[in-house]
Amino acid sequence: MNTVDPRASRFVHAGASPRIGVSFEFFPPKTAEMEETLWEAINRLAPLKPKFVSVTYGAGGSTRERTHATVKRILAETMLVPAAHLTCVGATCTEVDAVIHGYREAGVRHIVALRGDPLGGLGEPYAPHPGGYRHAADLVAGIKRIADIEVSVSAYPERHPDSPTVEADIDMLKAKVDAGASRAITQFFFENDLYFRYLDRVRARGIEVPIVPGILPVQNIKQTKSFAARCGTSVPDWLAERFDGLDHDPMTRKLIAAAVAAEQVIDLVDRGVTDFHFYTMNRADLVYAICHLLGLRPGLPVEEEEAGQSNPKPGPGAGALPLSTGEREKKVQGNV
Ligand code: FAD
Repeated sequence: MNTVDPRASRFVHAGASPRIGVSFEFFPPKTAEMEETLWEAINRLAPLKPKFVSVTYGAGGSTRERTHATVKRILAETMLVPAAHLTCVGATCTEVDAVIHGYREAGVRHIVALRGDPLGGLGEPYAPHPGGYRHAADLVAGIKRIADIEVSVSAYPERHPDSPTVEADIDMLKAKVDAGASRAITQFFFENDLYFRYLDRVRARGIEVPIVPGILPVQNIKQTKSFAARCGTSVPDWLAERFDGLDHDPMTRKLIAAAVAAEQVIDLVDRGVTDFHFYTMNRADLVYAICHLLGLRPGLPVEEEEAGQSNPKPGPGAGALPLSTGEREKKVQGNV
C-alpha cells in the first residue's frame, strides 16, 4: 500500500522510498577568495548527486559575467547539471536572447527564469525595460521559442510583495507554467503550513508542476530578518527566539541553524515532500548535514529517471509532487 507514514522521515535512508531529490543554489563569487569558498562548497556537495545546481543572476554586466563564468566552469569541471538563473532586468529581448543562445551553445539545458528585482534594489517600483521581456512568463515563452531547455520559475507561498493578492501571484505562476515552465522553486519560508496552504491553492488552480520548497538554513538571524522583510517572507517569533543571546556565539548558532532546518525538512518529508532546493549561500556544511539526515550519501548510483534530467515528470520518488492537504490526509489514512 502506498501510504505516507506520519513519521516517514524516520525511515528515510539511502536507497529507501521515499527517494529524496535535492538541488543547490549558489551565487557567483566576486573575489578570488569567494571563488575558493564557492568551489569548496560545490566539491563537498557534488557527491550527493543533486538533480541540478543553480547559479543566481544579478543586475549589471560584471555580475552577469560572473554567472556565465560560474555556469561554464561547472559544466567544464564537474558532472553536475547547472541551471543558470536569468532575469528580464535592464536588458532588451535581443540581449537576453543572446544569453540564452550562448547558454545553449555552451551546453546549458536548464534555466531558472525570473523577472528579477528592480535596478534600484528590492522595494523600488519595477519598470520593465522598454525593449525587454516584461515579466517572468514572457521570459519563459522567449526561452522556449529559442530552445527546448528545461525551465524552472519562482513561487511565493507568502505572496510576492509586488502582487496585490495571493490569487494574482498564482495567476502569474499559472502564466509561467502555461508558457512552458516545468517546476517552481519557492521563496524560502519558515512555517510549513504556509507552504501547504499555498500548495492547496496552486493545485486548486490546476497547476500540476512540482512546487519545490526552497530551504534557507538560517545562520545569521539579523541578516535573514532584513532580507525576509524585503522579499515578503515572515520570520516567526519562535525562530528569532531560538537565536536569542547567540550574537557572539557562532558555533552554537550553527548548531541551532542545523536543528531548525532539520526540523523543517523532517516535517516536510512527514507530510509527503520528496524534493528540496537549498539556498546554500555558498557554504556546504549545514546543507550537507541536512542532506545526510535526509538519507543522501556520497556516490549513491543515480537512478535512471534522475540521470535523464532534461524533463522530469511528476511522479513517485524523484520529482514527485508534494501532496495537497486533501491528498496527504487520504494517503495517511491509506485510502489512495
Ligand atoms: P514574477 O513571477 O514575474 O512576478 C512575481 C509577482 O510580481 C507576481 O505576482 C506578479 O503579478 C507581480 N508582478 C510582476 N511584475 C509586475 C509589475 N511590473 N507590476 C506589478 N506586479 C508585478 N532575483 C535575481 O535578481 N536574480 C536571481 O538569480 C534570482 N533568483 C531567484 C530564485 C528563486 C527561487 C526565487 C524565489 C527568487 C529569485 N530572485 C532572483 C528574486 C526575484 O527576481 C524577485 O522576487 C523578483 O522581484 C520577482 O521575480 P519573479 O520571477 O519571481 O517575478
